[in-house]
This record gives sequence, structure tokens and C-alpha cells, in this order.
Amino acid sequence: MALLEIRNLKKHFPVGGGFLGRGAETVKAVDGVTLSVEDGETLGLVGESGCGKSTLGRCIIRLIEPSDGQIVFDGQDVTALDADDMRVLRRRMQIIFQDPYASLNPRMRVGEIVGEGMQIHKLAKGGELRDRVMQLLARVGLREEHFDRYPHEFSGGQRQRIGVARALAVNAQFIVADEAVSALDVSIQAQILNLLQDLQEEFKLTYFFISHDLRVVEHISDRVAVMYLGKLVEIAPAEAIYANAQHPYTRALLSAAPLPDPSRKTERMVLQGDVPSPINPPSGCSFHPRCPFAEKICSEVEPALVRDGDHSVACHVFGPGATVGRAAETV
Ligand code: SF4
Repeated sequence: MALLEIRNLKKHFPVGGGFLGRGAETVKAVDGVTLSVEDGETLGLVGESGCGKSTLGRCIIRLIEPSDGQIVFDGQDVTALDADDMRVLRRRMQIIFQDPYASLNPRMRVGEIVGEGMQIHKLAKGGELRDRVMQLLARVGLREEHFDRYPHEFSGGQRQRIGVARALAVNAQFIVADEAVSALDVSIQAQILNLLQDLQEEFKLTYFFISHDLRVVEHISDRVAVMYLGKLVEIAPAEAIYANAQHPYTRALLSAAPLPDPSRKTERMVLQGDVPSPINPPSGCSFHPRCPFAEKICSEVEPALVRDGDHSVACHVFGPGATVGRAAETV
């Protein structure tokens, strides 16, 4: 059953412009995303920096207001909620940020940080609150004496554990992890990913896991969605993405991220240039200026995201919606 459904979600930011915004241009950070996340699932969202994935994550829990579209969480239209109802719902929809230091109040002790949400939502108080915070600290691998310390006294990995405990304290059901391990060393990354997986089973959590790193997403995801310039270009079960990616952008990302298993061969496909400006995205398929397989139609017509079973691809040349040229190649 889908816990979260995103329907044609858009976030357009006006930029520049003079008096009364005349001449302003529009950044289409998220441009018509439709996606569902099953209860208990981990959906990995990948793409290069600037592709709109963090904006999408923040829109889902309305840290950023979407420009258009609908978000339905557990049958409730999130986009229609007023600020009070949203505050109540946000207890169930939490976010873990890339930089845990910036997201932890440096003047609050760890016990206060983890317990704050429980106080606000009146989930516990007094000795019960303290006991519950202690239990959570232990569960995420921190010690009792950490309760009275300040965030600056912790390493990056420990600070991320504090962020996880804070999300669990309010009985979160759905967690957006926005580049949650990107700033950590590889060995610490693995520890935090293992912790998140253990907690998922224990607390019945659903993750929306955002990362630019396909290796990280593979480790934790049931399905992977690939985003390019505000749009989804491929969605499939994780095994299908890593064994049989169809979209040239996904294949280029895989090629750029060496996979830990040397027996798995990937084609070499070097991504040319940077992500184009989302203010004036290229016509047709916005990946066409960087795509080695581009045909004439690619610069003229935007490909739809076409589904075949549980694998969806937006491409004129590869995947179930292919209308020209070669058959889908196996990586
Ligand atoms: Fe490349 Fe064309 Fe497919 Fe876009 S639609 S990814 S340009 S082949």
C-alpha cells in the first residue's frame, strides 16, 4: 500500500527581475514529479547536484511550499493542510539533513535536542521524557553521559546519530534522509546505513533516501528513482537499476560510480559538461546536449515516463517508450 503519493508536483522559483518582478525568470527545480512510496519501503532518489532532489524532499514535508501538484500521505492531502494541521502531521514525517551540525541547535544539550519534539507534541514529560531519551540515545549507539553534552563535542557520525534519535523521538513513520551520509567517511557511512536499516525493521519506518551517490543508494534502497533537471527519468527496483539500467543518464551515473563488486561490469560512459541551467532547460529531452545516443527527435519532443511492469523510463531511444533507433541495451 502506498504511504506517500506525489502527483505532478512542481516547485518553480522566480529569480532576478526588476521592479514588481518584471523580467523575472523561473527556475523549475521540480517540474512535474509523480511518484509513490510504499509503506515500509526505502525509495532512493539519485541525481547530480542541482537536479532538484533536495527541493523535492523538502516539498514532500512542506519545508518548502510546492508551486503545484498534490502530496497525499497516508490518505491525507498534505498540500491542503493549514499550518496547525501540518505541524501535527510533521511529527510523522521527519527529515535528516546532510549537515547534522547545522541542523542541531549548538546551545542545546543533546538530551534537550532529542526530547524537544516529545515535549512539543506532549508525548512525554519529566522523568518519563528523560528515560525515553536515554533509551533512544542507547538505541542509536550513544551513551548515557552524552545526554548533557553539546553538539560540538561530537563527531559527524555521532551528530547524525543524534539527528536519527530526534526523528525517532516523535514516533516518525516516514523519514526523508537528505544526503544523510554524504559528509561522512566511508566506514562511518556504512555504520549509519546499517543503523538506519536496523531501525527500519524495528520501528516500521519508510525512507525517502536522497543521495548523489548511487553506491550509497544501492546499499539501502528497494527501488531507485533517477532525477535530472527537475524530472524523473527512470524508476525501477534497485536490482534492475544496477543490472539493467535503461536511461543513458542512469547508465552514465553508474559508470561514474565504481561498484564494489568487480564481477559486475559497467560500460564506460563519461558525462559531458555540467547540468544545464534549470532556468532555460534544453528543449525536448533536457539530457540531449549531454547524451551520446541523442537522435533528432530528442531535441524536439520531451519523452514521457513510460512504464513496463515495475520499470519506468523517459527516453525516445531506450526502454518501454522507445520510438526510434536501437533496442534497449543491457549494461
Ligand atoms: Fe538520450 Fe534521446 Fe534518450 Fe534523451 S531521449 S536520454 S537525448 S536518447
